[in-house]
Amino acid sequence: MPHTTSSSRRLIYIMLLLVIAASVTLSVFMERTAHNIRRNETPLLNSAIPQMRYLGDFESALLRYQLALDKRFTASITPERFAFLESMGRGELDASLAQLRPSLGDGPELGALRDGYQRIVQLTPEFERTVSADPAAARAVLIQMNEEVKALRVQIDSLQRRVEDAIYASGGMANRAIGWITGLVHVFDVLALLTSVFMLYHVRARVRVEDELSHQARHDPLTGLAHRRSFEARLATLPAAPHAVVLGTIDRFSRIIGGFGHAFGDRVMIGLAARIRGAAERSGGEVFRLDGANFAILYRMECGEAAFAEALSGLREAVRNPYDCEGHEIYTTLSLGAVNYPQHGANPDALLRNADAALQAARKAGGDRLEIYSQQLNAEAGERLDMEALLRHAVERDELELHYQPQQSLQDGGLIGFEALLRWRRHGQLIAPADFIPLAEESGLIVQIGHWVLQQACRQVSEWQAETGQRVVVAVNISPRQFAAPGFLAQLEDLLAVSHVDPSCLELEITESVMVEDAEAAIALLHRLRALGLKLAIDDFGTGYSSLAYLSRFPIHKLKIDQSFVRNMQTVSEQGAIVQATIGLGHSLGLTVIAEGVESEAQRALLANWRCNEIQGYYYSRPLPAASALDFLEGSLQLRAA
Ligand code: C2E
Ligand code: CA
Ligand code: CA
Repeated sequence: MPHTTSSSRRLIYIMLLLVIAASVTLSVFMERTAHNIRRNETPLLNSAIPQMRYLGDFESALLRYQLALDKRFTASITPERFAFLESMGRGELDASLAQLRPSLGDGPELGALRDGYQRIVQLTPEFERTVSADPAAARAVLIQMNEEVKALRVQIDSLQRRVEDAIYASGGMANRAIGWITGLVHVFDVLALLTSVFMLYHVRARVRVEDELSHQARHDPLTGLAHRRSFEARLATLPAAPHAVVLGTIDRFSRIIGGFGHAFGDRVMIGLAARIRGAAERSGGEVFRLDGANFAILYRMECGEAAFAEALSGLREAVRNPYDCEGHEIYTTLSLGAVNYPQHGANPDALLRNADAALQAARKAGGDRLEIYSQQLNAEAGERLDMEALLRHAVERDELELHYQPQQSLQDGGLIGFEALLRWRRHGQLIAPADFIPLAEESGLIVQIGHWVLQQACRQVSEWQAETGQRVVVAVNISPRQFAAPGFLAQLEDLLAVSHVDPSCLELEITESVMVEDAEAAIALLHRLRALGLKLAIDDFGTGYSSLAYLSRFPIHKLKIDQSFVRNMQTVSEQGAIVQATIGLGHSLGLTVIAEGVESEAQRALLANWRCNEIQGYYYSRPLPAASALDFLEGSLQLRAA
């Protein structure tokens, strides 16, 4: 790609300056030359050429005069005719002499001509007198006259030659000047031509660079797809024909980055973007990359059409095919949200909002699906917004509370501690965390709420300890977003310092998804948390990322087997096998294993049989409000004392 470098730019300037200088010089030179030619030509036109002509006139008048003499001598004309011709000839000669005067001047040359002519004319009466009387004498006069004519013609000739020479000299000088100028014009032409070609080349290179820049300005550098601003501009100028606007996101793409790093993620993104583009363009769609793993596709058809369903299933198929990158098989899916233009929104804002609502619905339903926008979706989105606003004030209005679910040791049946579970009390009704935690996650409110939960749990630990004199362990759920928030560690340190809670009384439950964004940073943070003396547990084990390689590097104390495995472990043999294997795995890593969601004696017995260390579930106790949890605690202390 040729760039206009500073050196070639300097060359262009130099060449342009040369052309300008050459053109000025050429003009000056031409002006000078024209002036010289004119100066030389003027006397030529004013005197030399007329002089030439009048000399010719004089000579031919002289010859006619001589002819008349000859004719009179040979008697081929009458004396009267001769008299007439003679006087006419003299008139002509006088006239020519008079005309020669301005150009020749009154100098010796004119005098010589006049003298020669006078001598001839003076012989004429002698000739006339003798011509009929004495032919011999007349002949002698005629011979003398002819001699005079001859001498005069020699003079005329020399005068003529002198004028001719002057004309030739001036013509030659003009020719040379014209030759010079022609040469200079050729040189100038070559210079101008070279400069033009050179500039043409650079202007072309420049135009190409500008084209490239304007392409870059409209496209995403990684995938080469048009970017968000191009998409918005495209939406703003949609023609009034039906279109389908589709927003898509690659499901769980952040896991690829979390697992293999950003460079690898970029390479996968390039490959997937090419597939999406290929599939979309086969159905006439235009693809834009909005940001991260988010795309937009514009189709010139409606969402309801069969062709649309076909196009989108082709698109999903293209992404679903395993992608082989550097020896890793990557499995991904697409979540898609679609709206009809103009039916679902006449302006870009409305279109994007509604398409996004559809996309979020597709993601909420587990991803790998297409959701077409409907009015109801919007209502749900509106509700979510209302709920978010209310949740924002829940902390200030003291609407949040913690319930505590006891955990039991399978070794001695005693109480080990509690898991703190969040509740939102609105107008006297309890709202389960499943109904607002995802919203809090999405909006980022979880960071603030999570901090409140930790504070509350610490307060509770101190309170119970003061009341019962016993150390009580409380497990707190930490959301991935809270875990990744800057200042999480510092907040915990402050909290421990202020509340004077023994750090080993606080257990943090994290899920494997904390590894998604940056596994190394997550592991480092876990190490620092452990160094504070906190207890660490992996929650919902088996449902998430489950990279055993990472698990072995996690500095944790406890594995929590997810309740979904526990629920079916008796009926579905594979689930039982998983629970058993997880217990074995946990033990081999030196971890305590707790099973949650234990609802029956049979489940408890089975788990005890498999050497699970602890259980949590309705079988032992439902989550309890703080006061009831205290009762439960006191009851279990009494049991132990007994
Ligand atoms: P989780 O951490 O897996 O919590 C266990 C959930 O299982 C709790 O639901 C609990 O009430 C329920 N459970 C306990 N024993 C049984 C049982 O025997 N059978 C059945 N069917 N369910 C049982 P809950 O309280 O609705 O909490 C749901 C989820 O909300 C939690 O799942 C946790 O992920 C999240 N959550 C709760 N409190 C907090 C919190 O303070 N912060 C964060 N970040 N998340 C929280
Ligand atoms: Ca939990
Ligand atoms: Ca759990």
